[in-house]
Amino acid sequence: MFRAKQYLLAQSLEEAYAANQKRTATVVGGMCWLKMSNRQIQTLIDLSALGLDTITRTDEGFSIGAMVTLRQLETDAVLNETFQNAFADAVRPIVGVQFRNCATIGGSVWGRFGFSDVIAVLLALKAKVELYPTGVVELDDFLQMPYDNQILVRILVPFTAKKAAVQSHRNTATDFPVLVAVASELADGSLRLVAGARPQKAALVNTTLTAQSSAEEIEQQLENGLQQMAFCSNMRGSAEYRRHLAKVLLKRAIAQLKEGTANAD
Ligand SMILES: Cc1cc2nc3c(=O)[nH]c(=O)nc-3n(C[C@H](O)[C@H](O)[C@H](O)COP(=O)(O)OP(=O)(O)OC[C@H]3O[C@@H](n4cnc5c(N)ncnc54)[C@H](O)[C@@H]3O)c2cc1C
Repeated sequence: MFRAKQYLLAQSLEEAYAANQKRTATVVGGMCWLKMSNRQIQTLIDLSALGLDTITRTDEGFSIGAMVTLRQLETDAVLNETFQNAFADAVRPIVGVQFRNCATIGGSVWGRFGFSDVIAVLLALKAKVELYPTGVVELDDFLQMPYDNQILVRILVPFTAKKAAVQSHRNTATDFPVLVAVASELADGSLRLVAGARPQKAALVNTTLTAQSSAEEIEQQLENGLQQMAFCSNMRGSAEYRRHLAKVLLKRAIAQLKEGTANAD
């Protein structure tokens, strides 16, 4: 468990950002990840007074505040109706309800964890990240950025994708995923395919598949795209097993998109 000397309930993004410029300060989300560290923190910066705990539908898409919990993502009816239950399907396997009531989307995205189910679904939906003070950046770009002292304010999910389907495999329930696969269908009919927990960060699979592609095209292009992608081994599975799983799960996700179904509870 970490130890902190001071607690700051920030009253503005400016105040949070200014306090976060010290190397010994730390912004907190739900503290689920942070609590596992042994760090000495001078100032804990809490964003909970900044109204960042809501999911709002705008003309362009959804605006999701950094302090929105994974449980909110799971239970928000409008968000889930819009994207064929993709958010609920992505976060439901993460630990348990009490945990998802604490862990935030801000902490999940900021962490840029390789095993992240949350990042995989957001990448498939072409999400953007709003940082203070930089402004809005594409999630793809944010994933390559070094950790710095900015504040992650919100996640923007445009209506670019019509729907998404999420598949993941865990060796045991509540464990970290061995592989996460997400397929989304964009407004022009093209498919955007993501493989996560490789175990590196989620990334796009290189294909030109569309919603109209035949089973043979899907098989061939997934084979080629996944051969170009790096997979690694760890205690949960080998690189080859992960590559195999990626193909199976992406095919299931594409089929799920076509059927218009969500995963069972
Ligand atoms: C045991 C365990 C199992 C897990 N299993 C999974 C899983 O299977 N799949 C999955 O996707 N995730 C999993 N996670 C990750 C989890 O879902 C959250 O992503 C993680 O706990 C971080 O969210 P948090 O709100 O707790 O962030 P915190 O622990 O509070 O913060 C995490 C990091 O983000 C920084 N931070 C937080 N918010 C902001 C912000 N707004 N701006 C700038 N920096 C910020 C903090 O300084 C810290 O460095 C697991 C975590 C644990 C502890």
